[in-house]
Amino acid sequence: MNIGDLVAEPIYDGVMRAPATVFYRDTTTEQWAPHQRFLEPDGMIRFDLGGFLVRGRGDRVVLIDAGMGPRSGLIRDGRGSFEGGQLLNNLATHRVRPEDITDVLFTHLHFDHVGWAANEGDIVFPNATYRCDIRDLEHFRDDERVRGTLAVIESRLETWDGSGPVCPGIDAMSAPGHTPGSTIVVMSSGTARGMLLGDVVHCPVELLEDEWAGVGDLDPELAKRTRTALNRELEGTDTPVAAAHFPGMVFGRLLAAEGRRNWVV
Ligand SMILES: [Zn+2]
Repeated sequence: MNIGDLVAEPIYDGVMRAPATVFYRDTTTEQWAPHQRFLEPDGMIRFDLGGFLVRGRGDRVVLIDAGMGPRSGLIRDGRGSFEGGQLLNNLATHRVRPEDITDVLFTHLHFDHVGWAANEGDIVFPNATYRCDIRDLEHFRDDERVRGTLAVIESRLETWDGSGPVCPGIDAMSAPGHTPGSTIVVMSSGTARGMLLGDVVHCPVELLEDEWAGVGDLDPELAKRTRTALNRELEGTDTPVAAAHFPGMVFGRLLAAEGRRNWVV
């Protein structure tokens, strides 16, 4: 995806699967009927895992989110599963080595977004400055799933505080609810703009159904207000958006016609 002189590319790490009506707790099979395009034939919903490589501004090579890392396991009482591990190989296919990365930005600090920040006690991207919102650092510093990773990268970790510029051409937009410091990453170049939604939206179906929410939001009410405001802002604009869990991690646009929203890739 080209956004002016910026180029944003998905870097796939793996996949997570869960039954759609379990992940979206209050939904039914009937409600999913018009949204089959987001489901696998067995009713499971597939969430990709990974990050986005953003290049084009000077010598900056920016990775936004760092995937699940080399691990796999079960979720939702064994009804779902996840498997990561491919992010570094996929960076290599883009001719990017870990030492080439200058900045790693985290949309939030859940374990499936910081997975490759460190590996077995070592920093994976040795020349990078790692960055996140200060609210997430404060919230997750003692979280048992990520505290080890955060301890390894702490000397290289800088924080931002709410909305504002983070890197050349890249701004943070505060989007709390999923986590306290949950952030939408806004890429801009001239009049062109694109967004990476973090986990404000897990599946494009949430751009179409304001009332649907995944099970992972720490503050569900705030997350819903944030998501609804985003949907209103995006509706009918030409802004390409993507998120780390979207199918294929591909960019799309939220178009509006005859009173209905449509997700178009
Ligand atoms: Zn996630």
